[in-house]
Amino acid sequence: MKKATIIGAGLVGSLWSILLAKRGYMVSVFERRSDMRRAGYIGGRSINLALSNRGFRGLERAGIADEIRAVAIPMYGRMMHDNSGNLAYQPYGKEGEAIYSVSRGELNIALINLAEKRSNVTIQFDTACDDVNLQTAELSFTQTAEKQTFTQESDLVFATDGAFSSVRNALQKRPRFNYSQQFENYGYKELTIPAGENGSFLLEKNALHIWPRGHFMLMAMPNLDGSMTCTLYLPYEGEHSFENLKTDSQITTFFETYFADAKKLMPTLLADFHENPVGVLVTTKCRPWSFQHKIMLLGDAAHAIVPFYGQGMNAGFEDCVLLDDMMTDFDEDWAQIMPEYDRTRPNDADAIAELALRNFVEMRDKVGDPRFLLRQKIAAWLYAKFPADFTPLYSLVTFSHTPYHLALQEGVAQDALFEELLNLPNIENDWQNEAVLAVFNAWLAKKTKKVTEMQEI
Ligand code: FAD
Repeated sequence: MKKATIIGAGLVGSLWSILLAKRGYMVSVFERRSDMRRAGYIGGRSINLALSNRGFRGLERAGIADEIRAVAIPMYGRMMHDNSGNLAYQPYGKEGEAIYSVSRGELNIALINLAEKRSNVTIQFDTACDDVNLQTAELSFTQTAEKQTFTQESDLVFATDGAFSSVRNALQKRPRFNYSQQFENYGYKELTIPAGENGSFLLEKNALHIWPRGHFMLMAMPNLDGSMTCTLYLPYEGEHSFENLKTDSQITTFFETYFADAKKLMPTLLADFHENPVGVLVTTKCRPWSFQHKIMLLGDAAHAIVPFYGQGMNAGFEDCVLLDDMMTDFDEDWAQIMPEYDRTRPNDADAIAELALRNFVEMRDKVGDPRFLLRQKIAAWLYAKFPADFTPLYSLVTFSHTPYHLALQEGVAQDALFEELLNLPNIENDWQNEAVLAVFNAWLAKKTKKVTEMQEI
């Protein structure tokens, strides 16, 4: 029987174990943490996540998409809160299109349950991978409770052990392995808006809420019990920063000044603020993702990104789908799959890393800007009028399966289009006219010509 070892039973590792098991592999999974079904889900990361089409495709492969959709809350758009508490709503896509708020813990548990239902998957919790001998693919583990160490050989190792992967650590010692890591000067802290009476939502349930404030922002996503998990993204140092939010009065004044409407709904603000840690935001890139057709990095272990496009997990689930497709295309020959995957997929990971960083600026700085709002309106109009020729970048990333690197290219092209459109005279008052269509058609013609030329080369 074909055997595979997976390091890490997080979101990507548990999904990947199911897809491999469905193909008849004998799968051994090792997870450093205790079994979250008994120990509870220990956060450290976001409590809820936005799941979108790429992620759902992975769940569909595993046969669990409907189960997860049933416990997910659709968010059809962004609800912006200005400093005076005024609200402005922007739909994310076409009618009915939504991103879904899911509980990280529940999703992970559902995947682990499904994996363990299969007789060819075993998951060992409380077992940390410390190292891997790259020549023999021998893995060294420590059973964390008894502090016992052991080794195990494997034909095929998949490292899904997250942004600070131990397997990648071993690969980093190899010559010609490239690695970079970039921490943002921002951190994040989770806070809570509890449910109202009888589990009611105190803010619009089916939206992702944003309080954009230039160099920082607050965000909120709904949970099934009526509560909302808020995330404050703030610089570590500077005028408005975690460093300057230490005392009760500093925290209270800051929230009263910038997030007054949210603060009214946060009775445990001070306790949450003091208790909850400040999380780091990191982008990691590395190449290659595989070694000698035996070892492969997947999910955050290969490409950790900042959370501002809500795509980290979605991208990790898409990794699983693409690899699953390649298993079909290359008849499960890993000597072909791994190099091909290494040749094609990292460009997409780089692109979504870039898009996620750009979206941070957009979310904290631009979403409240009238020019940005106008751009969104024109984009929605063009999308409705020319669906075959124009798809807004957000929809390409979130609602389509277009490779991320092509979405990024299209986003750059759309920036040029809107630069021109927003400079048309009187555009803020009249943006559904012949002048707009002329600019759009010229842009489209130029783009089509460029694509044709590229195809001819
Ligand atoms: P992880 O989730 O990190 O799982 C790794 C697993 O490996 C863990 O269970 C860990 O315990 C285990 N492990 C680690 N080291 C070892 C070891 N040495 N031995 C054994 N086991 C080990 N993504 C989205 O798509 N949508 C969102 O809305 C979104 N929001 C986010 C918000 C925040 C604040 C953050 C920080 C991230 C967000 N993400 C989001 C990104 C998402 O969390 C990650 O992309 C996703 O968790 C990656 O899954 P993974 O399985 O690759 O890694």
